[in-house]
Amino acid sequence: MNKKDDFYFMGLALELAKQAAALGEVPVGAVVVREGEVVGRGYNRRETGKNALAHAELAAIDEACRTLGGWRLWQCDLYVTLEPCPMCTGAIINSRMVRVVYGASDPKAGCCGSVIDLTALPFNHKPQLVSGVRAEECAALLSDFFKTLRSARRQTETPTEPTPSTPLSNMPPTTSKN
Ligand SMILES: [Zn+2]
Repeated sequence: MNKKDDFYFMGLALELAKQAAALGEVPVGAVVVREGEVVGRGYNRRETGKNALAHAELAAIDEACRTLGGWRLWQCDLYVTLEPCPMCTGAIINSRMVRVVYGASDPKAGCCGSVIDLTALPFNHKPQLVSGVRAEECAALLSDFFKTLRSARRQTETPTEPTPSTPLSNMPPTTSKN
């Protein structure tokens, strides 16, 4: 599969990430592709699903297993907009995924090269890694989302002017004791 195909399929993952953002979810999207055909789709639904497992990659892998009728995705590639976390990298290894193609790196939780590269450890399966595909678009989607979230929080948390009756002496000190 060449670079142009990777660009195209990452575009589908980006569209799914935008669906997550529309729900107020951190925008991460993923697709599983087998021989040029999408067999699984997913996007982050942790908030709406109230579930720590509701990551884009797990949803896409889950759908791919159902579509293909088996747990071995040994002819499949996974495209995801953000570098997979430890849980999802584990699922990628367990599902025998051929390749993982990701966009933006995740220095806080990424386990395909950032915090650690789990695929480099001597597990029973070693997926190939491709990083940085449409990374700027993937990262921009995330940074725009967090920017909007922060400004929304600022609006809802607009501090009210302290009135003379406000017992300022009861407020926590603003300076650190260290
Ligand atoms: Zn994950």
